[in-house]
Amino acid sequence: MQRDGATVSLWQYNIPDYETKHTTLPAALFDVIIAGGGITGITTALLLQKSGKNCLLLESNTLGFGTTGGTTAHLNTLLDTPYNTIAKDFGEKNAQLVAKAAQDALNLISNNISTYNIKCEYQTQAAYLFSQNSQQDKELDEMFRATAHAGVQVSYVNEIPIPISFTKAFKAEGQGKFHPIEYLFALAKQFEEAGGTVLQHCRVTNWHDDENVTVETTLGKVEGRKLIFATHIPPGVSVLHLRCAPYRSYAIAVELNDENYPDHLTYDLYNPYHYYRTQEVMGKKYFIAGGEDHKTGHVENTEACFLKLEAYVRKYFNVKEMAFKWSSQYYEPADGLPYIGHMPGSQKGNIYAATGFSGNGMTWSHVAALVLCDMLTGVPSPYEELFSPGRIKPVAGFTAFVKENVDVAKEFVKGFFTRDKIESLSDLAHGEGKVANYEGEKIALYKDENGQLHAVSPVCRHLKCHVAWNIAEQSWDCPCHGARYNYNGKVITGPASTNLEQINIE
Ligand SMILES: Cc1cc2nc3c(=O)[nH]c(=O)nc-3n(C[C@H](O)[C@H](O)[C@H](O)COP(=O)(O)OP(=O)(O)OC[C@H]3O[C@@H](n4cnc5c(N)ncnc54)[C@H](O)[C@@H]3O)c2cc1C
Repeated sequence: MQRDGATVSLWQYNIPDYETKHTTLPAALFDVIIAGGGITGITTALLLQKSGKNCLLLESNTLGFGTTGGTTAHLNTLLDTPYNTIAKDFGEKNAQLVAKAAQDALNLISNNISTYNIKCEYQTQAAYLFSQNSQQDKELDEMFRATAHAGVQVSYVNEIPIPISFTKAFKAEGQGKFHPIEYLFALAKQFEEAGGTVLQHCRVTNWHDDENVTVETTLGKVEGRKLIFATHIPPGVSVLHLRCAPYRSYAIAVELNDENYPDHLTYDLYNPYHYYRTQEVMGKKYFIAGGEDHKTGHVENTEACFLKLEAYVRKYFNVKEMAFKWSSQYYEPADGLPYIGHMPGSQKGNIYAATGFSGNGMTWSHVAALVLCDMLTGVPSPYEELFSPGRIKPVAGFTAFVKENVDVAKEFVKGFFTRDKIESLSDLAHGEGKVANYEGEKIALYKDENGQLHAVSPVCRHLKCHVAWNIAEQSWDCPCHGARYNYNGKVITGPASTNLEQINIE
């Protein structure tokens, strides 16, 4: 199956693209149109279809193409935003509500798997969190108290499942893991069998929020009563782009020489933290480690992130073979909680979005499905207000967060450029790209494996930031809001809908 990067994730191994029943846009008025065929879109679509809504799901590439194909699929109620932070910023009652929402999400996953008899290597497991110095011990204690108070079952432990020395540790019960693509494709099939329509290679490019919503796509126009953006970050320009920052995280799946594959999920307390688990795929065990996160476009040598992660893992584990390495993008919300509900600025209130999932999108996607299904079927949701994208939550550091995200470029690249000059200033190896200065203008250059140069404007089509080359995934990535383009400027994913401007090399 395809994914939005040049590396291959463990989940892509031996799995063909999903085949839909439909390949053309039906001429009908749908109750709900869902943009985005990742775990959020599919879970929401199925829940709505089963609640009696006639749904259409549109995916710009193929199902699982986005971060769902590049996740590590830990299923958690223990979240990236610690419960002590949530309690401090939103109050203790809301921290308990967050824990309850996360538990509802994990229950929905488990329910789906048993109701639809999904084979996806699902297992419930404990999650271990450990500290390695006195500063981290203090942090761990605070996290322990707040997590217990929020209602997650935790206990201190003297052992952890991985051979890394630690000073303190606790475990949280009732977490889990699965094969995200097997789960996703099984839900998509159930959605189609329930009468829902899925279209792949159909990008939503524009929309008009009137009595009904007219949705413009690369395959034509279609109408729905409601439109949900389950696109990881909504396209177009919205206040949500100022409240979410794109990050990249790295994962490797290795085979071990010994049989010491850890049974449970484990996390350290570094920033960025490392995350570990085991997964069996086609009868073979893999140890998956992740980490080395950074803001999108802020690291020049993204290949080095894999090397660092591998070196760290080799220090503690008896690695036989590096089987897979991949990276992917996630969105960090400004105040630590996801944004789920009415899209701010939607004129008639018919547009919805779900974004800002940090590294917990397996959980938040299911919270989103529950909240959106309640909202669209007129059932009061206990979580609607807490996760509302319209909430204004002034948190420490928010101004800096917004400033960093609006660091837009002023320059536009014009005219054409001579090959000689470009060659002299670019000095690129095959497969490499960089943004070069050319007579006061910036130009994004890539040299392909045959030595051919490709030039595009580095000005992102979303909000005019400058893109940066991601050598590991062979893409131009926008550091501001996470739009991503291939070497030739074609949109891969993110909030942009148009390609980077092509530049003639004469
Ligand atoms: C390396 C890494 C590891 C992670 N590990 C975990 C983990 O262990 N546990 C966890 O809970 N979370 C984890 N996460 C986060 C989690 O994977 C994501 O939050 C989740 O997959 C997001 O799912 P989604 O459906 O919202 O978005 P995506 O999976 O990105 O799906 C969005 C889809 O929308 C499509 N799309 C985009 N624009 C349009 C458009 N205009 N029209 C139509 N379609 C469009 C895209 O092609 C894409 O397929 C991890 C993230 C990373 C980067």
